[in-house]
Amino acid sequence: MEFERLEYLVVGAGLWGSVIAERIATVLEKPVRVIDRRSHVGGNCHSYRDPRTGIECHAYGTHIFHTAIPEVWDYIGNFTDFTTYRHKVLTEYKGHVYPMPISLATINNFYDINLKPWEVEAFIAKESGRTGNVSENPPSNLEEKAISLIGRPLYEAFIKGYTQKQWEKDPKELPPEIITRLPVRTNYNIDYFNDPWQGMPVKGYAAIFNRLLDDEKIEVSLGVDFKSIASKISKTCRIFYSGTLDELCDYKFGPLEWRSLRFEQSVEPHPDVQGTSVLNNADLETPWTRTHEFKHLHPERGPQGESSVVSKEFPDSFEIGKIPYYPIETQENKNLHKKYKDMVAETYPSMIVGGRLGDYKYFDMDRTIENALHAFEKFAKDLTR
Ligand SMILES: Cc1cc2nc3c(=O)[nH]c(=O)nc-3n(C[C@H](O)[C@H](O)[C@H](O)COP(=O)(O)OP(=O)(O)OC[C@H]3O[C@@H](n4cnc5c(N)ncnc54)[C@H](O)[C@@H]3O)c2cc1C
Repeated sequence: MEFERLEYLVVGAGLWGSVIAERIATVLEKPVRVIDRRSHVGGNCHSYRDPRTGIECHAYGTHIFHTAIPEVWDYIGNFTDFTTYRHKVLTEYKGHVYPMPISLATINNFYDINLKPWEVEAFIAKESGRTGNVSENPPSNLEEKAISLIGRPLYEAFIKGYTQKQWEKDPKELPPEIITRLPVRTNYNIDYFNDPWQGMPVKGYAAIFNRLLDDEKIEVSLGVDFKSIASKISKTCRIFYSGTLDELCDYKFGPLEWRSLRFEQSVEPHPDVQGTSVLNNADLETPWTRTHEFKHLHPERGPQGESSVVSKEFPDSFEIGKIPYYPIETQENKNLHKKYKDMVAETYPSMIVGGRLGDYKYFDMDRTIENALHAFEKFAKDLTR
């Protein structure tokens, strides 16, 4: 169908847009066009088989599905089964490897001691110099805040270099509010997530998106930017938009701030390079923050050959043209986003905006699905009024 005659258009074939399209086709039983400027569906959750090794790689960094939201777990279960994979993160600091987040295993390894669970709290309090409940001098920057929570040695090993690389700023120049707490586990649980439901999609993320969009009422057009077709769309077309609002409004009030990332991928001549899927690199001297080794995300697939695909993740400043990864959710930016939201409501009165780019919020995949399901439910309810 030509763009001029569309009744439903979804901008963005990421998780948010794909869930919306699936709902329009299944619940409303209406034809819907999905466009994306990229050459693939799945947005940042995109996975693909590396042609050299056959190993499934995550193009935009490792994605682990985890949720505590029953509605989301029930919904996504219609499109994939999950493996029993439970994510563990290790962090490398000065040639030693420790589990993250900080747990009894991290502390005992790092200090070379043998604390018991009930001794951890007093130990951390002593390390951080906490003597009473109320601090007379509240921390004025991130470094002071982190030291007040976990003490200087743990801060310098696990937070300082990583944070400096992530923000390209000395933690002394960052506001204390960036961290509200630094969880310290008093046991040997080294699972990264606490959610009751977690795992990897058995056939990969690409298979989820193929299932979500596998309906004859859904037509997907890749390599298409909304701006290039906007003038063709009729006024009665309902548009669901999951791109950034500053771009949609031609940056009228200036750009929103984001952090970006850059990935360097290589095939290494070892069946196993680092022994785990994600290794944090805490040293300041190592310019990347994380190393991903994708084959470990699917241990149920066996050794997967004699070589391995590794991807190094480098934090990057954002400028127009790069991929916006993480919104910088300061009050100033939230106010700017609100101005754009108001402008979009005026310019495109029937447009529904959502997803991590449209809402300018960091959403994990489960929150993205929840956000899409609720946006659709509200829309469908309004239709029947
Ligand atoms: C490094 C990283 C790791 C992550 N790891 C996890 C994890 O382990 N577990 C987890 O639950 N979540 C994780 N997430 C979060 C997850 O990626 C998001 O929840 C999810 O991708 C959000 O989906 P979305 O559809 O809102 O956005 P996106 O995936 O960004 O999709 C939006 C799509 O819209 C398209 N688009 C934008 N503007 C236009 C336009 N004008 N015209 C046409 N197309 C357009 C884009 O090309 C894109 O494909 C991670 C995020 C990052 C950045």
